[in-house]
Amino acid sequence: MSTPNPMDWQTANAAHRKSWVAAANDPISNFPIQNLPFGVFSDRRNVNPRVGVAIGDLILDLAVLAGNGLLTQSRDVFACSSLNRFIALGQAEWRAARLQISLLLDANSARLRDDAALREQALVAQADSRMHLPVDIPGYTDFYSSKEHATNVGSMFRDPKTALLPNWLEIPIGYNGRASSVIVSETPIRRPNGQIKLPESDRPVFGPCRKLDIELETGFIVGANTALGEPIACDQAEAHIFGMVLLNDWSARDIQQWEYVPLGPFNSKGFATTISPWIVTLDAFDPFRCAQPEQSPEPLPYLRHAGDHGFDIHLEVDLLGAGERAASTIARTNFRYMYWTMAQQLTHHTASGCNVRVGDLMGSGTISGPTADSCGSLLESTWNGQRPLTLPSGNNRTFLQDGDEVVLRGWCQGDGYRVGFGTCSGKVLAAPELA
Ligand code: MN
Repeated sequence: MSTPNPMDWQTANAAHRKSWVAAANDPISNFPIQNLPFGVFSDRRNVNPRVGVAIGDLILDLAVLAGNGLLTQSRDVFACSSLNRFIALGQAEWRAARLQISLLLDANSARLRDDAALREQALVAQADSRMHLPVDIPGYTDFYSSKEHATNVGSMFRDPKTALLPNWLEIPIGYNGRASSVIVSETPIRRPNGQIKLPESDRPVFGPCRKLDIELETGFIVGANTALGEPIACDQAEAHIFGMVLLNDWSARDIQQWEYVPLGPFNSKGFATTISPWIVTLDAFDPFRCAQPEQSPEPLPYLRHAGDHGFDIHLEVDLLGAGERAASTIARTNFRYMYWTMAQQLTHHTASGCNVRVGDLMGSGTISGPTADSCGSLLESTWNGQRPLTLPSGNNRTFLQDGDEVVLRGWCQGDGYRVGFGTCSGKVLAAPELA
């Protein structure tokens, strides 16, 4: 088939378009034809993980499409258990593939719509599929870029007057996280054991975390390798980003409080980080750009970029407490509040000459908003356990208990449609028994 011009990538975002996949036209579906997020899935018919795109309640198998000559990319980049090979093709190919898929799924396009045999091969129900970690992640970095979050934490542990440390307004603060324990949504989380220093004793104990928390974040997936010593310019940085995921940076607050001086979090964060299975491309989020918050003082020249680099993404956290009949929404916030942009984070990361690799994951940092119900962590919403949340049954919760399940959601609201991530969930299991 002929290759659509990648320069026309924005036509895939046109708001009025519909798909012949009926569920994609449901106004609250996260996967309309305007989205087309990439993931890795398997099903009973074919247990080999391969690359697919979410459309409505279905998954479109890209290995089948490419194998039948309906995509210009090689089948090899889709018939594999991670997106890394496809991502490494570069932005022009991401755009070409998304455009071709968009045209095939369009309500007015007969090629796949009217070929029952091919449709049967190429489409799988999401309900009958298993999602896998979508990328091999060489490195994971987590930032700390929400001013509201940093202010809340600084007020809690220091003083509201000096909540933000002097470097915060100059540097997108981050640390090198642990890539090996990044897991896909629905993977259970084991409560970590660790060193905990209780105020009444001189020495720490080793045992199960008592202050297990979430961090509502998004993450972005790096789309291109850079060479050691080669910084990315801030105005170019978004072209190096393939897309975004929801991210829950599970955190053991009591372990963190004891271990974090002087080099920052270690075991309190490294035990698990959950991401959503679908990677929404920055192209799909493009219609939902907005201005980032005003940055004062003006960032140093290497961190300046023209234009809008915020994104209007609604974010929610649901908690289904162990033994509860119903979940409650415990946070509602928005990615648009983020002070430092993804472009500034990536630029700062590489400013020293540090190289990045295809598939690297960069967490936004906990996303909190300006109101009391927009806290992205229990640390903030319960003020370190001092103000418990009330669950639907009337039971209270400060930090997470065994059996609790946390579900993150995120979407952009268009005119009659939503471009979203789907969900990112995890259930807490008891800590491993101590020997
Ligand atoms: Mn974090």
